[in-house]
Amino acid sequence: MKPLGPIPAGYVAIDGVLAVGGRKVTDLVEEAGGTPLFVYSADMLRARVAQLREAMPDRLAIHYAIKANPFVPILKVFSELVDGFDIASGGELGIVTGAGIDPSLVSFAGPGKRDRELEAAISAGVTLNLESEAEAERAIAIGERLGKTPRLAIRVNPDFDLKGSGMKMGGGAKPFGLDAERVPPLVRRVIDSGAEWRGFHIFAGSQALDAEAVADTQAQTLALAARLARESNSPLPHCNLGGGFGIPYFPGDVPLDLALVGQKLGEQFEALPDELVETDFCIELGRYLVGEAGVYLAEVIDRKESHGEVFLVTDGGMHHQLAASGNFGTVVRRNYPAAIATKYGVEPSEEASIVGCLCTPLDRLSDKGHFPRAEVGDLIAIFCAGAYGASASPSAFLGQGPALEMLV
Ligand SMILES: *Cc1c(COP(=O)(O)O)cnc(C)c1O
Repeated sequence: MKPLGPIPAGYVAIDGVLAVGGRKVTDLVEEAGGTPLFVYSADMLRARVAQLREAMPDRLAIHYAIKANPFVPILKVFSELVDGFDIASGGELGIVTGAGIDPSLVSFAGPGKRDRELEAAISAGVTLNLESEAEAERAIAIGERLGKTPRLAIRVNPDFDLKGSGMKMGGGAKPFGLDAERVPPLVRRVIDSGAEWRGFHIFAGSQALDAEAVADTQAQTLALAARLARESNSPLPHCNLGGGFGIPYFPGDVPLDLALVGQKLGEQFEALPDELVETDFCIELGRYLVGEAGVYLAEVIDRKESHGEVFLVTDGGMHHQLAASGNFGTVVRRNYPAAIATKYGVEPSEEASIVGCLCTPLDRLSDKGHFPRAEVGDLIAIFCAGAYGASASPSAFLGQGPALEMLV
């Protein structure tokens, strides 16, 4: 038997069936028109932002990094809750503007921005987080050609990384941002070009559960921003401090101590160096805002045994849940939180592996978990499915097609 990750707080059973947003998932599946289905809870999104507001200093704005989940109904909920949106492609720009989000609240990071993406962003008034000097020159030239003042920030490749983070984005050679020593000359160039100077974007890593490590990174980020502002000889209007707040996915993971992160950042804000006293700050979060608010549901199509092991074969799989299958940025496969949704809260009675319908041994959603006995027609649930699920999995693989999605 292998342990399962911790089920996020807030999921309950109604008549032995998992409920989301106060409704049984069997009813939600019927309403959506079948499985596989991602269900997201609007109440959980609201509760999460409220917790963040409570814990973080008032001065800190909260942005949503939409790559975690660009489902439009989610963006609409967040448009009433968060202060800004971060995108990483022209496609995501189309999604946020299509969702009715004010482009002046949007910033656009990401390497390899094409001219047509820069044009669309500059025309719309989106802030560009510049990833290189060459990109800066293209943006300035496009602004001149369009007769539109570009809003330009510089992404800094920090000299440090977020300790314990699942995905390191800083420290050493990286395709993201400019190395620190190259930043001050580009700041001068941007300001001299007549562009609107929007400050720094410093993102050091993702998926950290250690509050001390997050606080430490934020302190280093502030120190770096202050130093670069000083060396650039210009006040810093804005600084995006990155994010990196993680959620527990795996056995033994403990939730981030948000109060501690907020307290430490508050202390930093009380003692800001001169260069930063006028600066507006934000963090950009993806999975922390949406991950735990989503559940992936699939139906058991077959129940079989092989060499004494039970396999629950479902109509879902890694084509929607690449991360839960262990094939999205993890080294050692471990189990996400999972349950038999139609026997929710029932005592486990057997060891079973939940697999998908793809013809590859990689397609395993839960390996030798301990579950109540499930039969054909039962629903399985994979938790922590709100982020990097539907949009970060190879839904065309083996001709399977995308899952349904709904917000309740
Ligand atoms: C992916 C990404 C995020 C969101 O990361 P999470 O781990 O989901 O919070 C934020 N900022 C940047 C620059 C990113 O690339």
